Amino acid sequence: MKYISTRGQAPELTFEEAMLTGLARDGGLYVPAEIPTMTKEEIAALAGLPYEDIAFRVMWPYVEGSFTEEEFKGIIARAYAGFGHAARAPLKQLTPNHFLLELFHGPTLAFKDFAMQLIGQLFQVALKRRGESVTIVGATSGDTGSAAIEAFKGLDAVNVAILYPHGRVSEVQRRQMTTPQESNVHALAVDGDFDDCQARVKDMFNDFGFRDEVKLAGVNSINFARVLAQVVYYFAAATALGAPHRNVSFSVPTGNFGDIFAGFIAKQMGLPIDQLVVATNQNDILHRCLSGEGYFKGETKPSISPSMDIQVSSNFERALYFAYDKDTAAVAQLMDELKNGGGFNVSQGALEALQATYESGRASEEETLATIKSEVESSGELLCPHGAIGVKVANEHLKEGVPMVTLATAHPAKFPAAVEDASGIHPPLPPRMGDLYERSERVTRISSDLGDLEDHIRKQVAK
Ligand SMILES: *Cc1c(COP(=O)(O)O)cnc(C)c1O
Repeated sequence: MKYISTRGQAPELTFEEAMLTGLARDGGLYVPAEIPTMTKEEIAALAGLPYEDIAFRVMWPYVEGSFTEEEFKGIIARAYAGFGHAARAPLKQLTPNHFLLELFHGPTLAFKDFAMQLIGQLFQVALKRRGESVTIVGATSGDTGSAAIEAFKGLDAVNVAILYPHGRVSEVQRRQMTTPQESNVHALAVDGDFDDCQARVKDMFNDFGFRDEVKLAGVNSINFARVLAQVVYYFAAATALGAPHRNVSFSVPTGNFGDIFAGFIAKQMGLPIDQLVVATNQNDILHRCLSGEGYFKGETKPSISPSMDIQVSSNFERALYFAYDKDTAAVAQLMDELKNGGGFNVSQGALEALQATYESGRASEEETLATIKSEVESSGELLCPHGAIGVKVANEHLKEGVPMVTLATAHPAKFPAAVEDASGIHPPLPPRMGDLYERSERVTRISSDLGDLEDHIRKQVAK
């Protein structure tokens, strides 16, 4: 499988090269040149298989040529061995026709672990074979960073530096990033918001001197390997509910558009997905765009669902690439307008293509809290604020005869203040991480200046 840039001006790469590179050198994102498809029989055969077997069958065509079958099976097995649930992504029933896909049984209690644990193992095997080392730099609104640190800590071929917005992540998220003591882990509390962190990471990738000097690698959701890992649970959930013999819909709490884009890939591969519902919080640029109002940045307003406090959704570029029928020049032009003018209008044809694929809705802070309360009363399920947004928007899109699956993207204990505020229930951490509040923290507070950040990372990597 070959990977090409959404902006058309970077070299074609193999899966392994695209994974190690992250952002393309033309500023674009790598996508597979062709999306492989599965037959109805192949999809039907997934029902009831262990998660790891589904993962192998769904992902193999994308990685073939970069890893052997044996290597890849071992990578998958190690990636999910540390999860706290035998099903990895269990389904819970909320109402006769609405299900919750629990994606929070990994080591950092959010769905990011599905991709990051896999990527950690993929990097380790690939770098060992090449005899190379890399510096992973990532921006996080909370969950990506902790998942990355958990996946890469202690690996000798990797340094990992994570930028998070100071004071804007939950205490559990912060502690998961600042308490690992491994010397290859560098948590950076940046004075700014998530969009500043994400912009600086992009700037570092575009500073080719720095990029080559520290051998920068990216594991933000711009990395296609992350999207790929997330495709798997759409297949696992849909086949458990009767696909391919019936259609299934998904509602996805959305920030950077990586998780929902994985649903689009699953649909392109042949999984009969009826609706793909983009659920946003008050930072609703995606909902506005899908409603035909263009893609224009606003101020990021901090919310009780901080992992979705995003105005520029990096993976939306991939959605645009497909909506514009793979017209890379058009995508490059839009991204230019976004960078220089703060936004762009979507052409009529591309808007129709987007609206044919994605539905959308938003939840205010009050609606999110009200959903946490009503859901625990009606089904006994305690939702985190992100999952609650998914459930609220899903409820507005239910169709008779089509099961709806809402992705529960984080464990309620990751956001205890909001959950307790809404429901009166204090969600306890799972026993395996019960001592998180007692562990000592290690973090560097730093400005959002590119030079400061690069100097700091250079020094840490040289140690
Ligand atoms: C990252 C995250 C999201 C948003 O996912 P994207 O792939 O960025 O759209 C939603 N909920 C939680 C808990 C997250 O950590």
